[in-house]
Amino acid sequence: MKQGRRNFLKSMGAVSLATSLPLTACQVREKAPAVIGNGKMKLSFRPYELELKHTFTVAGNSRNTTPVVLTEIEYKGLTGYGEASMPPYLGESRESVISFLNKVDLTQFNDPFMLDDILAYVDSIDNGNGAAKACVDIALHDLIGKLVDQPLYRLWGIDPDNSPMTSFTIGIDTPEVVRQKTEEASRFRILKVKLGGGNDREMIETVRSVTDVPLYVDVNQGWSDKQEALDTIHWLAEQGVVFVEQPLPKEKVDDTAWLTAKSPLPIMADEAFQRLSELAALKGVYSGINIKLMKSTGLREAHKMITVARALDMKVMIGCMTETSCAVSAAAQLSPLVDWADLDGNLLISNDIYEGVKVIDGKLTLDDLPGIGIRKLNT
Ligand code: MG
Repeated sequence: MKQGRRNFLKSMGAVSLATSLPLTACQVREKAPAVIGNGKMKLSFRPYELELKHTFTVAGNSRNTTPVVLTEIEYKGLTGYGEASMPPYLGESRESVISFLNKVDLTQFNDPFMLDDILAYVDSIDNGNGAAKACVDIALHDLIGKLVDQPLYRLWGIDPDNSPMTSFTIGIDTPEVVRQKTEEASRFRILKVKLGGGNDREMIETVRSVTDVPLYVDVNQGWSDKQEALDTIHWLAEQGVVFVEQPLPKEKVDDTAWLTAKSPLPIMADEAFQRLSELAALKGVYSGINIKLMKSTGLREAHKMITVARALDMKVMIGCMTETSCAVSAAAQLSPLVDWADLDGNLLISNDIYEGVKVIDGKLTLDDLPGIGIRKLNT
C-alpha cells in the first residue's frame, strides 16, 4: 500500500512536470530561437573616415576628419554593430585597432550571452586598446539585444523617459566662428564650451552674447596654475557654468584635489580616468567622472562604473568621441542613469552611416529598436 502510494505520487509528479516543463521550454524556443547557443560568432571590421562639418579645435589640436573602425558580429542570421573611435592621447590608432581585432577569435564561444567570459577574454588579449575592445563589446551588446528583440535599456531595467538633455560642443575658435556655431546650435538646451586655448573669457563672453542656456566647460588639461584655475572657475560660476571638466593636467593630482575642495563647481575627470579599477582613487580628487565607451572598453564596464561611482557618491557624466550614431546610440542606452550627457559626436559629422538616438528638444530620445537602437543607412 505504502509502495503503491509512493508510486502514485511519483507518477503524479511526473505528470505535473510533463505538463509544465516541456511547455515552458517550447515557449522559450518559439519566442527566441536564436538564443540557443552552439552557433558561431563571426567578427568582421573595416576602416571608415568620418568627415567633420566644421574644423574642430580643442586645447592641443585641430582636425577636419576622424578615422574610426566599424565592426559587425554575425550570429544566426543577425548582425550586431560596433565602432571604435580612437582617443589620440591614449595612443590608439586605426592601425592598432585593426591589429588588435585580428587577434580576436570569437569562434571559440558558442553563446553570445556569455558576456563575462567573452569580454574577459577580449580584455586579456593585450593591455590598453580601450577603443578596440569597445567595438567588440558594443557589437556584442547590439547582437544580444537583437537576439531577444529588446533595447538594451530594457534589459538593464532603465526607464528611457529619464534620459537627459545632451550638450552640444563649441570648439575653441575666433569670436566670429564661435558666434556662428552658437547660433547654429540653438536647438540644444545646453552647450559645452572648450576652454584652455588662451582666450577663455572671450569664448564664454561670445557664447553668452548669443544664448543664456546652461554651459558645461571642458578645459582638456589646458590650465596649469591651480590658483588661476580657481579664480577662473569662480568667474565661470557667475556665467551660468554647471561643471568644469579636466581643468588641470591629469598628473597634477594634489593640485586637482585642492581645486576640487575649493571650487564652487563640480570638477570632472576625463583624461584622468579610463578604467573601472582607477575609479576609487579619484574619490576626493575629482567630484565625478566622464565615462566614455572608448575608454571603458565598452558598455559592460561603463555600466559597472556608474554603479561604483554612485556608491562613492560621485557625479557621473557620459561623453563620447567623434563617432557615428553607432557608438553614440550605444552610450545613450545608459544615459538615463547619469547626471549629465555629452553625446553629440554623431552630430558633428556629415557622413554618418547609421540612424540612431535622436535629440528632440535638446533631450536624448531613445526608441524601441533592439540592441543599441540603430539602423544601418543605405550608403
Ligand atoms: Mg573632455
